Amino acid sequence: MEIAVIGSNMVDLVAYINKMPKLGETLEADDFAMGCGGKGANQAVAAARLGGKVLMMTRVGDDAFADNTIRNLEECGVDTRFVERVPGVSSGVAPIMVDRDSHNRILIIPGANKHLLPPAIDAAADTLRQCKLIVMQLEIPLETIYHTIALANEAGVPVILNTAPATPELDLAWACRCDFLVPNETELEILTGMPVEDLPQIEAAAHSLFERGLKHLIVTLGEKGALYMHGDEKRHFTAPSVDAVDTTGAGDAFVGCFAQTLVASGDINRAIERAILYASNSVTARGTQTSYLDAAAFGH
Ligand code: ATP
Repeated sequence: MEIAVIGSNMVDLVAYINKMPKLGETLEADDFAMGCGGKGANQAVAAARLGGKVLMMTRVGDDAFADNTIRNLEECGVDTRFVERVPGVSSGVAPIMVDRDSHNRILIIPGANKHLLPPAIDAAADTLRQCKLIVMQLEIPLETIYHTIALANEAGVPVILNTAPATPELDLAWACRCDFLVPNETELEILTGMPVEDLPQIEAAAHSLFERGLKHLIVTLGEKGALYMHGDEKRHFTAPSVDAVDTTGAGDAFVGCFAQTLVASGDINRAIERAILYASNSVTARGTQTSYLDAAAFGH
């Protein structure tokens, strides 16, 4: 396997509504869809659909959602040998509301994802050391993330850490031992405790991370694309203007495509350009994984 995604899986329960309910308000939704999600699974699926050789390490629960999640990963071509069930625990579930302006509100119930702990990393260490890239996000215990970074650093395997969802508890000393950090603007602000309202502020926040040893920073900027920084080098990549229907999972589409393209080409610029096109396309269709194209349909 070339890419190991170590992260979460969730079952998305998506309600499509006209406007967000106020506190105490009950509204009727126009439509409902259930889908496989979770940041880890989304990124694994995006990379696999694009032709990456991907293994996913995750934990599912002891319920009806677990079979669905494993089957979905397998159908998408993801290796599930390190997906395990946790007895007596629920699978991860994510109720999501998407309004007519395509804004979203998401609740995460982590369930089994909290049970992906450092011994699981040790048990898979031989396989992980042979991967070309490890990809993680922040929906699993932080101790597991730090443990994996230590293993990857020792083995010389590059790590992408997508710092989503944002948490001030993330230890920057560990995060900056990754090769690539991929936050959005809000996450960068929470991560560094610095304002990020304009480009100079974003650059100052980025430099505070480089001073701690980080090599590459990619800040995703929604419809404005992404900013890549590496020391004093910086490049802004614009996103195509699209008719956005549902931006849920756009960040995951970006990371999955970036990881797959980086492993396939070794070219960071190409990987960012392609990830932007892939993520921008994903916002034109409803859902998370359902909006991720395969390589043939994507065509770039
Ligand atoms: P999410 O939490 O919704 O998954 P995110 O906040 O992690 O997203 P964003 O920075 O919003 O990530 O978006 C990631 C990428 O998706 C952007 O770099 C861009 O390529 C694409 N994208 C997102 N929103 C739009 C949009 N409205 N128009 C075009 N591209 C978009």
